[in-house]
Amino acid sequence: MTCRVHAVVIGAGPAGCAAAFHLARSGLQVTVIEAKAFPRVKVCGEFISPAATGYLEQILSADELRSAGARTVDRFVMELGERERVFRLPTPAWALSRRGLDVLLAAKARESGAEFMQPASVREVWYGGAGVEVLLADGRDVAADFVIHADGSGRHDPAGSVASDSRLVGHKCHLRVPGGIDGVRIRACAGAYLGTIAVEGGLATCALAARKELIARHGGDADRMVRSIWPGFDPAWRDGPWLACGVQRSGYVQPGHWRSLRIGNAAAADRRGVRRGVLRIRWRLDSLPRDVATGAEEAGRTVGHRHGLHRGGVDVVGDDDAGEAELAPQEPVEDRRREH
Ligand SMILES: Cc1cc2nc3c(=O)[nH]c(=O)nc-3n(C[C@H](O)[C@H](O)[C@H](O)COP(=O)(O)OP(=O)(O)OC[C@H]3O[C@@H](n4cnc5c(N)ncnc54)[C@H](O)[C@@H]3O)c2cc1C
Repeated sequence: MTCRVHAVVIGAGPAGCAAAFHLARSGLQVTVIEAKAFPRVKVCGEFISPAATGYLEQILSADELRSAGARTVDRFVMELGERERVFRLPTPAWALSRRGLDVLLAAKARESGAEFMQPASVREVWYGGAGVEVLLADGRDVAADFVIHADGSGRHDPAGSVASDSRLVGHKCHLRVPGGIDGVRIRACAGAYLGTIAVEGGLATCALAARKELIARHGGDADRMVRSIWPGFDPAWRDGPWLACGVQRSGYVQPGHWRSLRIGNAAAADRRGVRRGVLRIRWRLDSLPRDVATGAEEAGRTVGHRHGLHRGGVDVVGDDDAGEAELAPQEPVEDRRREH
């Protein structure tokens, strides 16, 4: 046994780093175990929704985000056939690659006192009345009061992985578009939708979720498929290969043990969460650290619900409804025929 901590967090994506940051800042001993060395690229649209701006800025200041090259976005354009509708975002959103964002969030979690084991992969978790034991693929293990599943699937929770949508595949790549791109633009067609956004370093992110039959119709060639949705797209703009991944189903997964919490994608988003994007970094900080610290069985049973931990990485507790209304689709500020 290498050590005993209050919480082991599996995964150092946005959900895991946010959890580690807040718990460690509250004085708890936290160990984050992350399989991949950072920086790394990840399939993601890299749009941090306005609903998350406040939560993100609890961890990273606007200046820190800007110094990493993050950009603010206040316009959202939706292409609907021959028309395009332009919406003004209620509060500015951020755009930053996961390569950049996850490094920044991990650094903040470390600064606040979280220990990292990285790269190190969790192989198995043993659950007992007295605590959990997290076993790593390299033979090491860590004992803890709680395990927080932020690994994107929850596969080491007794309740198992979040289901994937077998009809869909996610794709992403970075582009260097001559003249750059402005705001967030969503293009949709039957069987797919595609989003583009400018991120740091003169790059733009292009991410899409597409039905498998559409991909097959284009011979599995992502460039061809994207061209069918975005006729102006030039594969020569690509800065690196297409990455692909599964797309999770919505739906809340109840943890399978009282010492187990699920956050972010490992919790699975509900419909409302899907609209809000990943970075719903919302924590009931007042009592979460205390509950984890006490290690009391009752606290473990209730902690997830009280803190919204089970839902898409920190979402949706009562008073958020006001924010939701604010973010509800608004009238477009422009609605015009597209120029070709
Ligand atoms: C096509 C597509 C586009 C998207 N676009 C957006 C968008 O624009 N905005 C948005 O907000 N969301 C978007 N999402 C969703 C977003 O990518 C996820 O919601 C987000 O990555 C969830 O963060 P997370 O921290 O829960 O998990 P992840 O980011 O998946 O992080 C999990 C981490 O756990 C690590 N891990 C996994 N298994 C182990 C193990 N056994 N041991 C140790 N570590 C492990 C992984 O290496 C990874 O770093 C998109 C998703 C798709 C598919």
